[in-house]
Amino acid sequence: MSSLFRLPLEVRQMIYARCLVVGKVFPYTYAERYDEYEYDYDDEETGLELSGCEEPWVPLLRVSRAVREEAEPMLYQRNTFFLPACDLTIRFFKRSLHNDLRKAWVKSVVLALDASDMTRYDRGIVLDKHLELRRDEMLFPERAYDDAFWPEEESFKENLHLAFNDRLGDVVWPRKASYVLKNLSLNDVIFDFRGSACIEGCCDMQLKALSSIVKGFAMGRPMKVEVLGMEPWRQLWERVIAKWPAIQKSDDDDGCDYFEGLDILQT
Ligand SMILES: [Zn+2]
Repeated sequence: MSSLFRLPLEVRQMIYARCLVVGKVFPYTYAERYDEYEYDYDDEETGLELSGCEEPWVPLLRVSRAVREEAEPMLYQRNTFFLPACDLTIRFFKRSLHNDLRKAWVKSVVLALDASDMTRYDRGIVLDKHLELRRDEMLFPERAYDDAFWPEEESFKENLHLAFNDRLGDVVWPRKASYVLKNLSLNDVIFDFRGSACIEGCCDMQLKALSSIVKGFAMGRPMKVEVLGMEPWRQLWERVIAKWPAIQKSDDDDGCDYFEGLDILQT
């Protein structure tokens, strides 16, 4: 019996909170964050503010099984998880949220929505080429999110621009959002569109995406919904969100019935 357990439960919980409750968490390794994605602390290009993300002191969970059982729910229940590009989001689900209990713990996420949420298949549709998913991409969906090139020719850019924005607003972002919303029972969600603005300032892809999410996700609206990157259109998106009926909480609802596996690639 570790000496920690000679302390009263309330004191142990204060210690756990000091170690694990940090606010916003970016739930990936240093390598995933910097080498693979070259995210800076504040990425000027995408506007992602990762400087607000702290590292919880997770070695605490390795102290003993008893400590882990007692402390781990707090890590998930009392932090906000930053979910960036789709492949990393899938990785977080596979690695950390691999059972229904853990999924039910998560209460708050920032859902960053940008062009990196497109699979190779989506890119093929936008480019009007047929880029089928490879077999390994079907089995390991995160592999379908490699950084494929986009053509540079000017003549192509205008068509590309519109197709690109339709695809993101109509399919790609609603698909990602419904995957996250279906699998978690959230109290708060922040849709972060700061890395996604139309380069010409003409597209309403974010509003389209929000409308589809509201229509397509009948389970209802988390208690608190915030949208970043759409300040000039605040009245518009607030109207869209207002149409979203609130979640009906029933007594036997333990939040565990939502799991439907990795259906993220179904279009
Ligand atoms: Zn546009």
